[in-house]
Amino acid sequence: MIVIMKKDANPDQIKKVQDIFRHRDIETVVYQNQETPIIQVHSENQFVPVEQIEQLPAVDRLITKTEESLLVSRQFRPQGTVVRVGDLEIGNTAPVMIAGPCAVENEQQILEAAELVREQGIRLMRGGAFKPRTSPYSFRGLGQRGLELLAKARQKTGVRVVTEVLDAADVPLVAHFADVLQIGSRNMQNYKLLKAAGRSRKPILLKRGMSATLTEFLMSAEYIMAEGNDQIILCERGIRTFVDYSRNTLDLNVVPVIKQRSHLPIIVDPSHGTGRRELILPMSLAALAAGADGVMVEVHPHPEQALSDAEQALTPELFKQLVQKINNFIQWQQQYEQTPPLY
Ligand code: PEP
Ligand code: MN
Repeated sequence: MIVIMKKDANPDQIKKVQDIFRHRDIETVVYQNQETPIIQVHSENQFVPVEQIEQLPAVDRLITKTEESLLVSRQFRPQGTVVRVGDLEIGNTAPVMIAGPCAVENEQQILEAAELVREQGIRLMRGGAFKPRTSPYSFRGLGQRGLELLAKARQKTGVRVVTEVLDAADVPLVAHFADVLQIGSRNMQNYKLLKAAGRSRKPILLKRGMSATLTEFLMSAEYIMAEGNDQIILCERGIRTFVDYSRNTLDLNVVPVIKQRSHLPIIVDPSHGTGRRELILPMSLAALAAGADGVMVEVHPHPEQALSDAEQALTPELFKQLVQKINNFIQWQQQYEQTPPLY
């Protein structure tokens, strides 16, 4: 449950509401949501005197449905959350692009990739230093050396970096080098990692588990937010289905549904969602048409040499075409949105 206070509620009035719960041994947390104070109530099955609280003059309304009373729910912040990475805003009006190789492989590769990304006007580069791989014998990333190379690429080109953290114990290390921490599909329900990432105060890119329901996905974001970190970018990266022509099935239905259910920005990763480079352009455009706040794609200066996910890496040429088409699409979309709706 959450109690939404009136805008001008003073600290005494907030405390009065908290006291009602405290006397019943129910924990509460106060959040300052723009100007409106919100009290989150951690009641499980305990009785809550709803009418008594509703009648208090400083209380605006109560939200009692479990799902709507989550910190990640749209009701918590109807205007939406903007995630800030330096001066880049994700979740604001214009969609953003994130691009880069699957993994950091060596200095030359990541510097070339950063240059490709920068040339296209993209300000956030991806690149894994700690790689979750199905086989323990595959290339599993350069670890700390990879993080150092990402920092070097940022210093040379000015692009910011997002990279995956696999383990709660590595959060301080990765947070030291990265601008955004990625939590990958395989770790979406690693609650210890989610909590550690939440405490890091860095923006978090949270990928949907490959068989996670939407509720499970949002609950994982709730773990991060409950640590006091609302800088969360959700990422749809495809779910596992019976199809045999693509690596995963990109669930684009989820984009408008997340927009209804949560205030957090949602981006789409068509690279892992399809596993095939020729599907990245159409599915990027489809993601933006569905209302995504951005797309994240894999590009490699020499895909034939890539140590992971080579089949889905865009070539530099395809990448340039993609960026151009996306930019054209965004321009068209902005004009389209100014025309009256059809229904
Ligand atoms: C990645 O983006 O580097 C990655 C490993 O993706 P996912 O967690 O979605 O499989
Ligand atoms: Mn990859």
